[in-house]
Formats: sequence, structure tokens, C-alpha cells
Amino acid sequence: MIIGVPKEIKTLENRVAMTPGGAETLVRRGHEVLIEAGAGLGSGLKDEEYTAAGAKLVSREEAWGAEMVVKVKEPIAEEYGFLRKDLLLFTYLHLAAEDALTKALLGAGTTSVAYETVQLPDGSLPLLTPMSEVAGRMATQEGARFLEKPQGGRGVLLGGVPGVAPASVVVLGAGVVGTNAAKMAMGLGAQVTMIDINHRRLQYLDDVFAGRIMTITSTEPNIRKAVAYADLLVGAVLIPGAKAPKLVTADMIKTMKEGSVVVDVAIDQGGCIETIKPTTHKDPTYVVDGVVHYGVTNMPGAVPRTSTFALTNQTLPYAIKLADKGVDALKLDGALLRGLSTKDGVLTCPAVGEALGIDS
Ligand code: NAD
Repeated sequence: MIIGVPKEIKTLENRVAMTPGGAETLVRRGHEVLIEAGAGLGSGLKDEEYTAAGAKLVSREEAWGAEMVVKVKEPIAEEYGFLRKDLLLFTYLHLAAEDALTKALLGAGTTSVAYETVQLPDGSLPLLTPMSEVAGRMATQEGARFLEKPQGGRGVLLGGVPGVAPASVVVLGAGVVGTNAAKMAMGLGAQVTMIDINHRRLQYLDDVFAGRIMTITSTEPNIRKAVAYADLLVGAVLIPGAKAPKLVTADMIKTMKEGSVVVDVAIDQGGCIETIKPTTHKDPTYVVDGVVHYGVTNMPGAVPRTSTFALTNQTLPYAIKLADKGVDALKLDGALLRGLSTKDGVLTCPAVGEALGIDS
């Protein structure tokens, strides 16, 4: 198969969907790999490394002209023109929050497989996990930064110092993002509260963190109470493939302390905080009712080298299956089939259809 890897063009996105090692693996299996010139530079991967691996350097148009295009982020408006019927697109899509892109994919008849809904039988999301690990760890790092006074925050050090209480970090959603955010916050000495609806998850975290974090069941009154005492609130809720539920209302945000910070990592699914809106690395925050809001939709893009390797370690085995078998790979691998989002103008992911009011 001919596989194309275009350069990412979303604002400040420096990841690339394939490493030279990945390209070499595919070339060795008899595939042709077309890399847009310069696609890896943002992650410190030079064109020569790709050509040495057997890949061909091409223009953006040629990369998009391949039978399968492997990307990192969802296509943005200026890439919609590349979508076509005989294209297999393998990338993050987040269609539940992307009305225009969903229509573009359906209109073009493109077959698209979304990384974030590829799902193993145990319910885990293997292609979301690596970026969730990065984003969760970054959520605390960014939260700590924006709590600093010169960044517009309350002027609070997460860990406090001897004789001064540490900051309170409240993490809403105790999955991969939430747990990684909590680990970093704990490591910095903050007081951590984790909120989730999954009691088993809370039991597990209570066991492994041995009383070093507080776990709370997700109910409206519990969330309201915790939001009011948070210095840093991390939104990390997920209902796979669906828009995130708005668990923190504008009303609750009003009760937060002046200069406290919210980092809503779930923003790529619309966000779980009512006052959040998408922001970029260029201009990451804005203030509502004295609370600093951070809603960067591609957080791992700030640490592209770590993220590129973390992501491609997990995507490559699936890209190999798609390259070897084409669309038939979906019939042979139930996890990949769950990632199928659009095919021949039909929306195949029910949660996306529900979120956008389109029949699926
Ligand atoms: P996950 O499935 O591991 O965890 C989600 C958690 O939310 C689960 O533990 C689930 O029980 C919990 N949850 C569901 N409904 C809830 C409710 N009503 N109250 C409390 N908890 C609830 O998912 P994840 O990998 O941690 O991802 C979390 C979010 O972060 C997703 O929206 C994902 O797309 C997003 N994400 C964003 C970025 C970014 O750059 N902004 C990067 C990676 C992931």
C-alpha cells in the first residue's frame, strides 16, 4: 500500500504521525511510505533519517494523494479539500466536537478510523492512552505555571513550604489523564482530591495511593463542594466518542478563589467545565470570574518529541494491519473496527451521531 504522512499544520502542532523506525518497518513489509518534506522536524526527526529508512520525501499534495494517510490531529478546514472517497484516513478525529469535519468526511465519502475510539475488549483505548498520559502530566505542570502571579494566577506554590499549607488540586475524572495529573500533583506535594463515578476505580486509587489522595464519588453536590476549595481544577472526564458532560457549571466557577486555575483536558471532547472554550498554545488562557481558564486542545503538542514517540509506539501495530490488509483489517480486528467513524458517506460511530444529531 502507499502510505502518506503529511506535516501537521494545526497551530504549533509539532508532532508527526510516523517515526523513521515506523517508516522502515512498513517499507520492509513491501509498502511505500511518502513523508511530506520537513514533517518530522518539529519532533527533531530529520528528512535524511526518513530517506535512510526507505521513505520518499514528497510535497503535501503527494502525501495526501496516498491510499492511506496517517496523521496526528484531525484535518483542519484547509485540509478538507484533500478528503476523497478512495482515501483511508487514520488519525485522531474527535468528531463529537467537530461538526464541520464530520460533514466534510461524510460529503467526501472518506473511510476514517479515529485513534481515540479504537477500543480493546476490556474497554481500554490504546491509542488515546499515550497522549492522555502526556496531557495528564502536563495538566499539573501547566496548572502550576498559571497559578504563578506573573502568569495571572493566585500566586500559590503547589507544594507549599514547611509552615505553609500546600495548594488543593481537584481532579474530575480519575482515568488515565486524571491519574497522571494526580501523580504529578502528589509528587509536587499538593493536596489531591480525585472525583469519579466509577467506584471500582476509586477503590483502586485509594489502594495504590495508600491514603495520600482523597477520593470522592461524582455527584453534583460533591463536585460543587470540591470546586469551591480547589486552587487547581483539572477536568479529565470521558464518555468514549461522546461530548463531555458539563459537570462544572458557570455557577460553580463563580465560587472559586480569585486567581485559581482550571485546566480542562477534556476540551477536545467539548470540555466538562461550562465556561471552558478551546485555546491554543500561542494564547493558552483567558479569565472568567477571576478564574484562569486553560483549554488547549492539543496539549501534547507542546512536548512533541516525547509525544511523537509515545503515540507512534502504539499506532504503528494498527497502521501495519491497515497497510497489509486495507479496509479488510477492520473485519479482522474488533478493536480497529470500533475506531471506524465514517465510510462511504455513512457515520458509523453512534456516540458521534448522538452528539451532532446526525443519523448513524
Ligand atoms: P479515561 O477513560 O481513562 O478516563 C475518563 C474517566 O472519566 C473515567 O474514569 C470515567 O469513569 C470518568 N467519568 C465519566 N463520567 C464521569 C462523571 N460523570 N463524573 C466523574 N467522572 C466521570 O479517559 P482519559 O484518557 O483520561 O481522557 C480524558 C479526557 O482527556 C478525554 O476527553 C480525552 O479526549 C482528553 N484528552 C485531551 C487531550 C488534550 O490535549 N486536551 C489529550 C489527551 C486526552
